[in-house]
Amino acid sequence: MASERQIRVGDVLIGGGAPVAVQTMTKTETANLPETLAQIHRVAEAGADLVRCAVPRNEDVEALRTIVRESPIPIIADIHFNHTLAIKAIEAGAHCVRLNPGNIGGPEKVAEVIAVAKRHDVPIRVGVNSGSLPKHLRDLEFTDPVEALVRAAEETVALMESLDFLDFKISMKSTSVPNTIASNRRLSERVPYPLHLGVTEAGTKYTGSLKSAVGLGTLLADGIGDTVRISLSTFHAEEEVKVAWEILKALKLREKGPVLIACPTCGRLQFDMDSVVAEVERRLEAYDDPIEVSVLGCAVNGIGEARHADFGITGAKDAGMIFSKGEPLKKVPTDQLVDELFQEIDRYYASGKQVVVDAAEQAEATRWLSENEDLSAMTPERLAQLEKDKLREEQDAAAAAAERPAGVDETSSPTAGRRFSRTA
Ligand code: SF4
Repeated sequence: MASERQIRVGDVLIGGGAPVAVQTMTKTETANLPETLAQIHRVAEAGADLVRCAVPRNEDVEALRTIVRESPIPIIADIHFNHTLAIKAIEAGAHCVRLNPGNIGGPEKVAEVIAVAKRHDVPIRVGVNSGSLPKHLRDLEFTDPVEALVRAAEETVALMESLDFLDFKISMKSTSVPNTIASNRRLSERVPYPLHLGVTEAGTKYTGSLKSAVGLGTLLADGIGDTVRISLSTFHAEEEVKVAWEILKALKLREKGPVLIACPTCGRLQFDMDSVVAEVERRLEAYDDPIEVSVLGCAVNGIGEARHADFGITGAKDAGMIFSKGEPLKKVPTDQLVDELFQEIDRYYASGKQVVVDAAEQAEATRWLSENEDLSAMTPERLAQLEKDKLREEQDAAAAAAERPAGVDETSSPTAGRRFSRTA
């Protein structure tokens, strides 16, 4: 269930049907202003809607004042253990504070923070973590870890409601992907507040991205989750942002920049597609429009499944072809494929999103395609055409049979193929 309630962190709406917000966390010492601000600008450039900074010391709070002023995106102060730092972070201008009521020193300390948050109209993210559940839920954690997480979250919700504070979102973090999925599904049915999703300590860029894609992707596909953070073991926070965007783009929840489609390659490949795909991906980062660009390793399937791509290339040993929306545009030498592809894309934008076609070049490319295409390959299009042809044949045969006058069909015998013997 998507959250019913909505909160606002700076100028970013969260929950209540707002687009799923992408956030990350700086990896620098927050008090190191040049490094922290540089990283914030990089993550904002990569598409982060929000960024969280760790605030474990007073000097980090001091830095926070400048960071809030100079950051292009809202800042969330990340507080553990020390409720006075949470209060100071709010007073320093943080757009939101993340705290875990279980480790901040008890409900009275939480109440003090909430009183200041109310005065400054600042929302709070309350977090529950599988690694720091309250003592009275530890037994339950052994028998039903999902219910233990959900109960802890519900108790936090009850505390916020008892303080007459509804301006919050909730996160339940677990290192287990199945528990992350199950607990968020369960909580989303019980409370109307926005949910922040993440798989905690997910791992390296490879494993962490996969775990997050499975865990968060499953929930997001169900309509659960209002903001996401991909936790990766890397100092480059922008990598987390890129992965988050790929998940949202794959689910068509948000659009950002081009979509690259590339074949997996196989033994038919005749050119260095690895480097071509990497180069295309790198150059596409400069474009904001959600165009679809396809790279095919060979023309065996023709344009095949990349027929819908706005632009694409398909290559062979010495030459390749640029195409657009299933139509050949031009044949070019393989080593110029990438440059020519981007020339066509730039020409498209320069002419007001019109594909510019040169008839002579198109004819040459069409000829090249017909010479290189493997006409025996069973592409989805050809399979569909075969099925269509077969259906038409059956319909024609049925129509002809219906028109034939009733009587014995001398051309077909019901006993054809059988052998009879009178002596048997
Ligand atoms: S497009 Fe060509 S190279 Fe790529 S996977 Fe298909 S057959 Fe192989």
